Amino acid sequence: MKVAFPRRRGRLFCEEVDLARLADREGTPVFVYSRRHLLERLAELKRSWTGRDPLICYSVKANSNLAVIKTLLEAGAGLDVVSGGELKRGLKAGARADRIVFAGVGKTRDEITAGLKAGVLYFTVESLPELEAIDAAAAGMGKRAAVAFRVNPHVDPRTHRFITTGTVENKFGLDLEQAREAFRRCARLGYVEPVGLQMHIGSQITAPGPFEKALKKLLALYRELRGSGFKLAYLDLGGGMGISYDGRPVPSARDYSRRLAPLLKDCPARLVLEPGRWLVGGAGILLTRVTYLKKQPIKNFVIVDAAMNDLIRPALYDAFHRIEPVAVRRRTKIRADVVGPVCESGDFLGKDRVLPEPRPGDLLAVRDAGAYGFTMSSNYNSRPRPSEVMVAGKRYRVVRKRESVADLWRGETIPDFSRAK
Ligand SMILES: *Cc1c(COP(=O)(O)O)cnc(C)c1O
Repeated sequence: MKVAFPRRRGRLFCEEVDLARLADREGTPVFVYSRRHLLERLAELKRSWTGRDPLICYSVKANSNLAVIKTLLEAGAGLDVVSGGELKRGLKAGARADRIVFAGVGKTRDEITAGLKAGVLYFTVESLPELEAIDAAAAGMGKRAAVAFRVNPHVDPRTHRFITTGTVENKFGLDLEQAREAFRRCARLGYVEPVGLQMHIGSQITAPGPFEKALKKLLALYRELRGSGFKLAYLDLGGGMGISYDGRPVPSARDYSRRLAPLLKDCPARLVLEPGRWLVGGAGILLTRVTYLKKQPIKNFVIVDAAMNDLIRPALYDAFHRIEPVAVRRRTKIRADVVGPVCESGDFLGKDRVLPEPRPGDLLAVRDAGAYGFTMSSNYNSRPRPSEVMVAGKRYRVVRKRESVADLWRGETIPDFSRAK
């Protein structure tokens, strides 16, 4: 695999594009994505499951830029969507509906109808009331809805509690007993067709153990249901494979498949995977420019033009992202917090970092910002959201332009009863 962000003569590149020049032209903050990285990751994941030909449904919520979706679609991916908006995005990017799986705990009637109209491969169902709602919507349209049940295997993936989804305390999925009940209910309902089982135990998981434990439980249920006559065509292992944010090694896709494939040896179902972060995280960086260096008696702050509204992971999960100068000049080092201008103490991109003492105007790169970066961004503090750029070799394109200040109040009105006389 080629390095997506190589350093040449001290300068950071994305593929063949000099990032300092890109930032000069396009401004900062800006998210930059390597197309090649996306393609290489998808290919690596496919290769690691040779013989199984899994349907890889890219989880759109990690990075929903149309250009990112399109790149992965062209390389053969399907999609995992969790809202009507994501469904429309996927279709807009050119996805075939029969390669889209539709998940989410709170699908509304409108979203269900949209999924049925489009003809998604299946809905991942997370509760009995949702099953009834899907049945009713399908009945209304005279269609049958394919459903896969999300099973909560009650396995703790030992990741951050906000991104744990497969324990007893989480809102996601059905426990084993509810799942059995769901299948029984399908037999009574006229318009739902159970086609599979799904699990998704969390995000940023960095060990195969929890997957293995969860899969064993899922497979036991799978066999039991097959025994009862349910022909389950799909077994969906969800997403959650973690990436390295600090440079320390994490298991490879092959490490996971080596542990999981033997368990699946006799399972005839088509394997479905829903990776998000693993495909796109390392493909992106956030470029930001230093506004001030603020030296204080006990702490230094590098104040930059990107903030928690652009990349909320540090504030929300205490997540670590490497932060590097874009151009390395020999300079004394400094220990500092890298912070944005937003009026919150939680507004930091990195704490206690040792980096070459930056000067105002210098560029910093926040690494591994391709997943849950732009998609979780907001306009907090009335900050227009950054632009997004995709690089392919020597070329790059702005794939989402920077928001303007006027975009900030698009859709707002001052009511007539407030107008000054
Ligand atoms: C978020 C999500 C994923 C992707 O998770 P990653 O950790 O980014 O791989 C997959 N499936 C479902 C149902 C999800 O909610």
